[in-house]
Parts: sequence; structure tokens; C-alpha cells
Amino acid sequence: MDMAASDIGKALDEVRGQIAEAVEIAGRPSDAVTLVAVSKFHPAAAVEAALHAGQRVFGENRVQEAAEKFPALRAQYPDLRLHLIGGLQTNKAREAVRIADVIESLDRPSLSDALAKAADQEGCLPDLLVEVNTGDEPQKFGVPRENADEFIRQSRKRFGEKLRGLMCIPPAGEDPVPHFRFLRSLADQHGLPVRSMGMSADYPRAIAEGATLVRVGTAIFGARPTGLAGD
Ligand SMILES: *Cc1c(COP(=O)(O)O)cnc(C)c1O
Repeated sequence: MDMAASDIGKALDEVRGQIAEAVEIAGRPSDAVTLVAVSKFHPAAAVEAALHAGQRVFGENRVQEAAEKFPALRAQYPDLRLHLIGGLQTNKAREAVRIADVIESLDRPSLSDALAKAADQEGCLPDLLVEVNTGDEPQKFGVPRENADEFIRQSRKRFGEKLRGLMCIPPAGEDPVPHFRFLRSLADQHGLPVRSMGMSADYPRAIAEGATLVRVGTAIFGARPTGLAGD
């Protein structure tokens, strides 16, 4: 199901056009939104096609998969930026710190501990976003709504300016807009500049609601193998 390189280039142009349009309609500055191209389950060749088409920011769910695909590409494209967007196990924290520029899925104290320790060991720390489970779905990653304030405060205290913002994945099949609004107001309350929200199905609406990062996979790379839909 992998798309040809030229198709990936075309799809990227299409998504960039939609982003530009949504940004303009919202009256936001033209550089207000960064596109994170979500390449999970797609081969390195697909990432290379996107790189050829000028894309530099990528998102992956799994540390292992990201570690297999990205270091070689990074050697060729030093300005490549990798976001880890999937639920993160504490035993993967050190490798995550080593390979990522941004970790979007900080969601619990045990992971904060693991990341702080990994940062000490590696001598560096990626930017961090707190993932909020805005739909309070039991099967999902993310800090529950009622704990979000306190967890964000603690994360700020611990990580300082490395804590850049918030991320959410609204419940499938629900109107995402109330979730986007909740995330935006929570970020504003905490003075956090980054709001990662919006995927293939809803990124123009997320931009209307103030997204600064949109995470788009299917609309760029095509469908992922079924059964591996993946978060
Ligand atoms: C897979 C994934 C995306 C991309 O989803 P698409 O619907 O393919 O655009 C975005 N964010 C997260 C956290 C994901 O796991």
C-alpha cells in the first residue's frame, strides 16, 4: 500500500495547501503551524520521498521503529526533526531521549522520572509535550483531565522551558472541536506555546482552533497496513 515517491510529493503539496488555507482563514501568521509527517509503519523510502519533497519534521509512534529508520536519514539531512508521538514505556526512555527532538507523549510521573534520569545519562533532553487524554478514555494514553493541571505544573517545575506544550488525540467518532478548545485553553492557562492537535481527518479544524503542530499520516503516506492502525 506504499505510495510512489511522486504521489507522496503530491499529497504533501495538497496537505501544505490545506494548512496554508486554514491558517489564512484563521487570520494567523503564515508560519503559525508546523506539519509533522507521521511515517509510522511506512518504510524509510517513504520518508526519503517526503524529504526530497522538502518535508523535514516527522512523527513516529514506536521508539524501536524510529531508531531503525531515522539515524541514517538524519546523517543525510541534519535539519531533520523527529517527534515521538506514541505512548512511551519507561524502559524506552533512554533511547527516546537519544533519538528524538520532541517527545509529545509525557503523561505520568513514572515517565517524568525515567526521562529525567535518561537526560542525566545522555546529557541532553528533547522538548516535551504533555499528552492530555481529553476524552478520558480508559484505553488511551494521556493524563486524565482532572489530573492535567497538577501534572503540567509538576512537569514545568521539573523540566522548565523544555516543557513546551500539550498534545491530544480526541476520541474517534466524536466532534473533535471541544477537545481542541479544551487543550488550547489549558495550554494558555499554563503559558505554554505549543498545541499539538489535528490529524488527517481534522487538521484544518484543529488549525482554526489554534493548533501549532498538526500530525498528519494517512493524508501524506496513504493507508497504513490494517491491524496496525496504531496508537
Ligand atoms: C498515527 C497517528 C497520527 C496520524 O494519524 P492519521 O490519521 O494517519 O493522520 C497522529 N497522531 C498520533 C498520536 C498517531 O498515533
